[in-house]
Parts: sequence; structure tokens; C-alpha cells
Amino acid sequence: MTFHDQPMSLEDLAFPRDRQARSDTRAIPAGTIDPSGLQGECIDGPGERTRLGYVRVWVSGVRLLAHVVAWELINGPVPTGMELDHKCRNRWCRNPLHLEPVSHAENCRRSPATTKLDWEKVREIRRRYVAGESITHLGRQFDVTKQAIWLIVNHKNWKEPA
Ligand SMILES: [Zn+2]
Repeated sequence: MTFHDQPMSLEDLAFPRDRQARSDTRAIPAGTIDPSGLQGECIDGPGERTRLGYVRVWVSGVRLLAHVVAWELINGPVPTGMELDHKCRNRWCRNPLHLEPVSHAENCRRSPATTKLDWEKVREIRRRYVAGESITHLGRQFDVTKQAIWLIVNHKNWKEPA
């Protein structure tokens, strides 16, 4: 099987097995993977967890960030000067649909909303939401956006370890 013979599975995406073919992910043309089969769920997979919570995989002897590899398999190289922001806020997630290239400044601008929260607060938000408090109200209480609260109460991020 060559690289382009068949759509790659998420397993492949998660951990490129055909190291020879993927010796240089930056040489892989955009559109190599069809993203239409991807679901909205966050995707974890094998690899080495970094101190900051990202996952590194080995591709032909080179250590690369799993989420960057996944994104580049669909979109091609990350544009120069851009960083991939995890919209789901799960740094381990390698679902390309959860990643968005943004400038470094934009990435910094987005991060304070997440650093305002910690596990204790996240659990409190979930308790209070279940108890009937509205997303808007919780957003004001915790000084984060409604979107941030929505992601938390729907368990789209800050996932409790299984
Ligand atoms: Zn995700």
C-alpha cells in the first residue's frame, strides 16, 4: 500500500505507521486525508505526553507534535508565523477539526480564558449547571465566555480521566 492508495484511518492519523511514506510531513499535500469522516469528539492516541500536555509522535526518527501532524495531513503545512490553537482546549487532542491556525498574538489572546479555570472551578461549574444555573449566569460568575461554559457543561473539554 502506498501513501495515497486509500483513505487513512484515524489510527493512522493518530500514529503514522508507514514512516517511510511520511518521512517529511511537510511534503504531504493538502487533502491527503478526507476530514469528512471525522466526528466532533476529541481524539486521543498513542504517543508521548509532554509536560505541557501535548502529545509527541515519532515520524521517521523525527519527533513531531501529533496534532500538528494530523492537521497538516489534511491542510498542508501550517502557514509560516501561525500556531495551531486547540478550540476544544484539550492539548492532547489530535482531531484536525478542533484545530485552527491563528497568529501567536491571537493564540495568547485566547488563552487567558482557559487559565482562569482549574479543575476545581470546572467541577463547580458542572455541578451548578446541573443544579439549574444558566450558561450565561455561570459565564458572568466565572468571568469567561458563554462558549467556554457551554464546552465545559457539555464535556467537550476538561474531560475527566476515564
Ligand atoms: Zn478536541
